[in-house]
Amino acid sequence: MKITSDIHTHTYLSSCAARDSWPWDFMKVCGELGIKTLGFSDHLWDKAVPGASKWYAPQDVDHVFQLKEQLASQQCQEAVGDMKILFGCETEFLGGKHVALSREAAKLFDFVLIPPDHFHMKGFTVPADLNEPKDIKELMIRRFMEVMELDMATAVVHPFHAMGWTPEMPRLIQSMITDNEYIECFTAAKQANCAIEINTCAVKPVEDGVGDDSFSPEYVRMMTLARETGCVFSIGSDSHNPKSIAAFKYDRFERFTELCGIESILYQ
Ligand SMILES: [Zn+2]
Ligand SMILES: [Zn+2]
Repeated sequence: MKITSDIHTHTYLSSCAARDSWPWDFMKVCGELGIKTLGFSDHLWDKAVPGASKWYAPQDVDHVFQLKEQLASQQCQEAVGDMKILFGCETEFLGGKHVALSREAAKLFDFVLIPPDHFHMKGFTVPADLNEPKDIKELMIRRFMEVMELDMATAVVHPFHAMGWTPEMPRLIQSMITDNEYIECFTAAKQANCAIEINTCAVKPVEDGVGDDSFSPEYVRMMTLARETGCVFSIGSDSHNPKSIAAFKYDRFERFTELCGIESILYQ
């Protein structure tokens, strides 16, 4: 299936993105690759919600809203063509009801991305001593279910990707999650009307992967189960620099969704 949407991109307004990650460059690069709906999703911690880390505190609603001015700029007007632009955000989630976006501010965005597993922020999103794979898996499943209970996310991003340990950790954790556990999670996502993101990390080649593309068998299993459960998907390059999109393009997403039988993608 031709991929025509990408709703996970970070501009220079995200502290971790390239300083020259300009919205008009995303428009140019994505437009050339056939993207018709482009969503911006800078990192966000709403000031109305207590508990921001030092890193998150400056990235509040006013900060992220600077993108609106950029979108009205001549450079963007020239680059946008007939592409549809969506103004979203990627907020943060600390478990329970602790999401870094108020209901009021959520209404200001076209879409809201919620990461259930930014587990690299030790001592903030997860306890500093969380290291046992069994415990990581349990917390990951619980957080996923809690995100669904919030009923706020347009899409749950990079689901079940245990970042912040070794490069092998995401796959190890995924291999420990049973089909039934996935199905329970994806059933909740379907009920909450929350899309499952296919992130760049899901389509990366692995050494002993599936087919010519060497897709991760664990990601193929996860996303095929999500599709069988009836979930809708979203596409997220999670680019922090428009140049990186020019380098990878969207064809791996296309072949991955075909392999998993996925046809239901948001904004396509
Ligand atoms: Zn993220
Ligand atoms: Zn992101």
